[in-house]
Formats: sequence, structure tokens, C-alpha cells
Amino acid sequence: MTPNVAAAKAALSHLEIEESDAAIKSKSRDFFWYSPVLKDRLDHVVADFVVSPKSEAEVIEILKVCYQHDCPVTTRGAGTGNYGQAMPLAGGCVMHLKHMSAVKEVHPGRVIVEPGCLLKDLDAECIAQSGQEIRMFSSTWATATIGGFIAGGSGGVGSCTWGALRDLGNIIRLRVVTMEEEPRVLEFRGEELARVSHAYGTNGIITEIEMPLAPAYDWVHMFVTCEDFPDAVRFAEDLANEDGILIKLVSVYEAPVAFDYFQRVKPHVDTDANLIGLMVAPHSMDGFETFLARRPEAKLIYRSDASTWERQPGPVFEYGWNHTTLRALKVDPSITYLQVRYADPDQLKLIEQIREEFSPEVLQHLEVMRDGGKVIFAGLSLVKFTTEERLDEIIARHEAVGAMVFNPHRYTLEEGGRQTVDDTQLAFKREADPKGLLNPGKMIAWDDSDWGYERMYAYPGLKAAE
Ligand code: FAD
Repeated sequence: MTPNVAAAKAALSHLEIEESDAAIKSKSRDFFWYSPVLKDRLDHVVADFVVSPKSEAEVIEILKVCYQHDCPVTTRGAGTGNYGQAMPLAGGCVMHLKHMSAVKEVHPGRVIVEPGCLLKDLDAECIAQSGQEIRMFSSTWATATIGGFIAGGSGGVGSCTWGALRDLGNIIRLRVVTMEEEPRVLEFRGEELARVSHAYGTNGIITEIEMPLAPAYDWVHMFVTCEDFPDAVRFAEDLANEDGILIKLVSVYEAPVAFDYFQRVKPHVDTDANLIGLMVAPHSMDGFETFLARRPEAKLIYRSDASTWERQPGPVFEYGWNHTTLRALKVDPSITYLQVRYADPDQLKLIEQIREEFSPEVLQHLEVMRDGGKVIFAGLSLVKFTTEERLDEIIARHEAVGAMVFNPHRYTLEEGGRQTVDDTQLAFKREADPKGLLNPGKMIAWDDSDWGYERMYAYPGLKAAE
């Protein structure tokens, strides 16, 4: 199969096509560079052309034409993903969904929206029309799209109450276009949602989304400090277990993350301050203050509704999730990160074991999540990078003691996930993308069904650097 990219581009020339090399290059990149391992492998990756459809009909046309000419298609929301999710490894077409951003309908408890809508615009429209907001969003709320969040994200601000994005009930319906000779438009609910959610656009393009909503609040953003790190983690866990206090974010940062990397927090903490970032609903503040008064080890240093800080810190969620890594990277370019899952039976002990072994080479940054009704922690640990071998050693050690790692230094779905084939996604790819043209190189099971995961997968179709 030899792609005829020029023929595909010519056949689509009546649509909005990006012509400048600089724009094509920038639309071919995401936040893969958070990983020095991926930076080394993918820095040269660039698409041949970028097309921006304005409707589902144009999406269908693009997929049909590219199918005819064997041209790879990588879909782009806003390109804020990590793991190289939106990198067009084999070149070809980047399909940018920026124009498909309409909020179509807002109802009590749900919204229907196009995939290219920014999370912040979606929230603004839901609040304006109905006083509701989306249950959860990635900390890239200001820049990322809802389609990219579903196809590439995992959860975020709100997951401390609502769980992960793929948990039952957190997505209601997806409308999906296939890449066949005659593309089909399918509607998925229930079990079928797992076919395409968090599949990096490898087996269908999401053109409409129905999401659940929750009442909107003017959340109170806060910072609390603790001298002792285990105290801070216990504070976070206990607060999340207070069923009557409504929270949207609980993040924990080991010292000296706040002092070293959070410039606007720095004047208010010293190097040994362990920091907790919080978002609490205004009507829960009485309950929260009572909880706080019972914890002499914790000190409230900032609250957004009564701030005395000279320079305001901005939204506290923009310190959490992967914004922590971003802030650390700005100060120390040698920092990278790991995505870890700490769960029962004794998650606090596990966190402490890892911290004792690796701090300060690995500094703990934890996010509270709800998982099957229980509080667990997602770790987005900050790692001082030295070599790939050392990074692999740190990951292996996490896994050996029972802390699962979703390796952000790999660009395939399997290696960035649970290191196993997702049969549902693979089966749907066979049906919906028979030529394997959607975001090629991201699903190992499609290329090599016998892959053993003993070393990093190298996609054979990766375009060589020029
Ligand atoms: P993109 O990067 O453009 O795309 C992501 C993936 O989805 C790609 O594989 C792309 O091909 C595919 N895709 C996009 N649109 C479609 C579509 N319509 N149909 C099919 N496939 C599609 N992630 C989290 O989950 N939680 C966080 O809190 C979080 N915080 C972050 C903080 C920072 C600073 C950074 C850099 C990243 C963070 N991320 C987080 C990752 C990322 O920002 C989010 O997942 C974001 O929602 C992705 O949206 P996007 O529009 O940028 O998607």
C-alpha cells in the first residue's frame, strides 16, 4: 500500500487546507516533548498537509478521499495531549477539528456538543444556558477540546468526586465516523463507548458528544500546607472521604515542589512545605472549615474568596494534574514525569515506600480520584531525568512494589496503558479502519499481534528524519 498523499490533498483542495510549512509543523506536534524519550524519537515528525473540516459531511469526505488514496489521517483537537497521541507518525493528513465547536443542545443533566469545542467554552455555554457545568475536565481546560479529552484524556479536575472519564455514566453518547470506502456514521452508548474512548482516534472519528452535567458552583480555590508529607496525604484522603463536603480537586505536592516550582506560591511557603491544592463548593465551606479546625497540622495559606496575596495565583487546578509538570519544566528543563496509580489495600504505605526510596530524585505529586466508590491516588510524580536506563529502572521498581505505571514515555496505546491488547478497540479498528490509516503506529496489536512488551515498541512506519 503506497500512499498517494498529493492526490488526496488535491482532491480536498476546495476545503480549508493549511499551506505554510510552519503551520503544518506546529499542527503536527503535541506535548510529547514532556518525555525526553519521546522527544528523542518523535521531534522530526511532521504531516504532509493539514485540513480543517467545518462539518461532519466534510469529515466524511476527508476520510473517504484519504481512504481512496491510502493516505494516513491523524485527528487533532488542540494538540495538548502527552504520549505523542496526536503526532502523525507516518505523515499524511492531520485533520484539525477546530471549526467543529458548536454546543448544540443543553438539557437538565446533559449537553450535546461537537468535538472541537474547548472545555472552557463548553463550560461557559452550559453555565450561561442552565447553571450547569461539565463534571470533570483536564487541567488544560483553557486550551483543550472535549473530543481530544475523550479520545486521549483519562480524567482530571472533578475525578475526586466523579471518577475516571471512562467510568460508567461519565460519557453518555458518541457519534463516530468510520474510515472505509463508504464511511459509516455510528452512534455508541453503554458498552460500545469503550470502542473509541481513549483510543487516540485510531479506529473512528468522534463527531458529536453527549456528556453529563452537574450543578455549577463558584468553587473556592485554596492552598493548605503541612510540614509532614504523610500528614498532607492523610489530610487529602480524609477530606475526600467526608461525604458531605463537595470537592472538585484535591492535589498533594511533596516539598519542595511548591517552593521550587510554583512562583506565585513561593513567597508564602518555605522549602519544607508540603502543599495541598483544593477546590471546594462555596456551600461546603462551613463543613470544610470544621474539618480544617480538627487538623492542627494543616495551615490554610490561600483562599480565592478572601485572598490577601499581592499576586494572585490563578486557578488552583492549573497547578494540578499535568500542569505541575509544566511548571516544574519551566524552572528545571531536566524534569519529566510518571503517571502512577496508587490504590488499596494500603495506598498510603505504598506512596511512603516509593517516596523513601526515590525522593528527591522522584518527588511525589498526587491527585485524589474516586475509583469504584473508594478514594485512590493518581500520581503524576516529578522525575529528575538522567538516562533512559535509569527511568526504566524507576518504573520497574514502582511496578515491583505494586504501583501501576501508565508509561508516558511510550507512544502506543498499550505501552501507555496496561501493557495489554484492548480487544474491544482492536476489533472495532478491524471493522472501522480496514486499511489501518487512522493515526498509524499507535496500536501495537494492529501491527504486531505477538508483541511481548519486553522493550520499547518502534513503529516500522515511522517517517525517518530528513
Ligand atoms: P489532542 O491532543 O488534539 O488529541 C488527543 C488524542 O485524541 C489524539 O490521539 C487525537 O488524535 C485524538 N482525537 C482528538 N479529537 C478526536 C476526535 N474528535 N475523534 C477521534 N480522535 C480524536 N489529560 C487528562 O486527562 N487530564 C488532565 O488533567 C490533563 N492535564 C494536562 C495538563 C497539561 C499541562 C498538558 C500538556 C496535558 C494535560 N493532559 C491531561 C493531556 C491533554 O491536555 C488532555 O487529555 C486534553 O483533554 C486533550 O485534548 P486536545 O484537544 O488537546 O486533544
